[in-house]
Amino acid sequence: MIKLEAAELAARIKEEVKAEIEGGVRASLAAVRVGDDPASAVYVRNKIRACEEVGIRSEQHALPESTTTEQLLELITSLNTRDDVDGILTQLPLPRHIDETAIIEAMNPLKDVDGFHPVNAGRLALGRPVLVPCTPAGIIELLDDRGVEIRGTNACVVGRSQIVGRPMAQLLLQRDATVTICHSRTRDLAAVTRTADLLIVAIGRTGFIGRDHIKPGATVIDVGMNKVSDVDEVRRLFGDEAEKRLEVVAKRGSTLVGDVNPAEAAEVAGMLTPVPGGVGLLTVAMLMKNTLKAARLRR
Ligand code: NDP
Repeated sequence: MIKLEAAELAARIKEEVKAEIEGGVRASLAAVRVGDDPASAVYVRNKIRACEEVGIRSEQHALPESTTTEQLLELITSLNTRDDVDGILTQLPLPRHIDETAIIEAMNPLKDVDGFHPVNAGRLALGRPVLVPCTPAGIIELLDDRGVEIRGTNACVVGRSQIVGRPMAQLLLQRDATVTICHSRTRDLAAVTRTADLLIVAIGRTGFIGRDHIKPGATVIDVGMNKVSDVDEVRRLFGDEAEKRLEVVAKRGSTLVGDVNPAEAAEVAGMLTPVPGGVGLLTVAMLMKNTLKAARLRR
């Protein structure tokens, strides 16, 4: 089985953005975060760090948990109108008391570098994409980079979130795959996923997709990012490679695992993206690319 590592491609995408910035394109990103969720803080920090690497100006707005929808709307409105801000990123999930839909819909679609605004989602659904969600866009780049055929294949997307599953399915459709979307109400999931040449999984359930879900030789893209700290579970998931992971658990308290059982997938899949080292790296790289695109769109 081939491991579809993404580090080299992610670095290349960032290098391309950096070259354009050095060539004189100005771009800037405003990252908005509300509350104290440690995972969100790490994600935003990684995005800001990527901006620094490529030369995109960035600013971070870290607001307290007590922020109201109205206060956040005010900030978004001011970022919308500022000429020195090209991209706006609101780190999700927002605290429960904030109306997430209202926040996303308040964003200027031309600055919506996550591609979540209904205008961007609608354009994608109509086959005329402008700003496309970073994770699915990165997956297409990875498949193209590795020469994985999309056209005419049976592609199955497990998960129908607005962030990953739905836009992923739209992108695959646009590239002439025959697309099936599965979700928590799908009957006999394994029977459906086993027909897929290309299986993309974004459900948020540790190691859920096993050997019985995968067609022999299929390309499997694992979007999931789940923290595992239980030693027995690590052994079950990683088989022969468990020792390295157990070292990570001993050092950091947990290890990152996808939605696909890596040991079982290795027995049947033709290709599999590792977690970490796969899709996650591309998400940040594509955010840089989208910010550059947003800067161009407005000029
Ligand atoms: P959501 O929780 O928004 O959506 C999960 C989807 O999976 C839903 O559509 C749900 O179905 C479906 N689902 C849940 N359980 C099952 C099941 N047992 N069988 C079939 N379908 C199921 O998740 P996200 O899309 O936001 O994220 C998914 C995963 O990807 C998470 O682990 C997240 O951390 C990761 N992620 C990784 C990124 C990266 O950069 N690598 C970026 C974004 C997310 P239903 O609609 O019926 O409830």
